[in-house]
Amino acid sequence: MYLLLDIGGTNTRITLSSDGQTLTAIKTFPTEEDFETQIQLISRIAHELTGGQKIEAAAAGVAGILDKEKSLLLKSPHLDSWTYQPLKEELEQVLDCAVYLENDAHLGGLGESVYGAGKGYPIVAYITIGTGVGGVKIENQKIDGYSKGFEPGHQIIIPEGNPCNCGGKGHLETYVAGSYLKEPIDWNKVAKYLAIGLNNTIVHWSPDIIVLGGSVMKSIPLDRVKAYLKKYLTIFSDCPQITLATLGDEGGLYGGLQYLKS
Ligand SMILES: [Zn+2]
Repeated sequence: MYLLLDIGGTNTRITLSSDGQTLTAIKTFPTEEDFETQIQLISRIAHELTGGQKIEAAAAGVAGILDKEKSLLLKSPHLDSWTYQPLKEELEQVLDCAVYLENDAHLGGLGESVYGAGKGYPIVAYITIGTGVGGVKIENQKIDGYSKGFEPGHQIIIPEGNPCNCGGKGHLETYVAGSYLKEPIDWNKVAKYLAIGLNNTIVHWSPDIIVLGGSVMKSIPLDRVKAYLKKYLTIFSDCPQITLATLGDEGGLYGGLQYLKS
C-alpha cells in the first residue's frame, strides 16, 4: 500500500493506493502554518486511512524548493515557517516507511504526463498557473534531471518589472498568477504574457505537448494564448500542441504514485 501526499500552501491532500493504479478517497484539509501541528495531523489522518495496515512507501509533493537530498524545504513563499524543518525525517518517523519528497508542480506534471492530458507524448512541458506559477519538463514518463529544480514562473518577462514574492522583478508569475492579479483583470493581457512565457518554454525544452494546469487557467482564454504564441514563436515551423490539464487537484497525487512505481 502506498501513501500519497500533496502539501500545498493552502490545502493538504492525502490518499492511498492499494493496487498501484488507482487512488482511494482523498482527504483534504487546510495546511497548518505550524510545522509540528501539520506533522501530527498528517500522522493521525494517515493512520485513520490505513486502519493500521503497513505503508510500503510514501511520496509527498511540497510547494517550494527542496535541498539537494530532498529532505527539507530551502525556500517556500507559501510555507515560509516550514523552511529548514526536518520534513522527510519526521514524516518517515510518523508514517513508519520511506518518504520521498518532490516539488508539488513537478509531481503534478508527472501525473498529467502518465495519467492525464500528456499521456502518450514523449516530452511533456507542464505549467501550472495558480497562486504562483510552477512547472516541469517530463521526458518518457520521468521528471527530467535537474540541478536546482524547474521554476518557469520566475523567468523574466519584463526587465525591472513587477516585484515578485521571490525577491526578483518582472517574473512571469507576477503577470499571470492568482496572488498578483487585481480586479479588474485584463485577461487578454494575461494571455499575452503567458504566451511569452510559453514561447520561452518551447525554445528551451522543445516539448511535444504543453499541458496547462492550475485554477487560474479556468479564466485565461486559451484561444488568445494560442493566437499570441503563433505570432511570437517564429523559429519552428509549427507550435506543439497546447492543452488543459485533466486531473485537476489530483494530478500531484497521481504523480506521487508514478514516482513511487518508477
Ligand atoms: Zn520570482
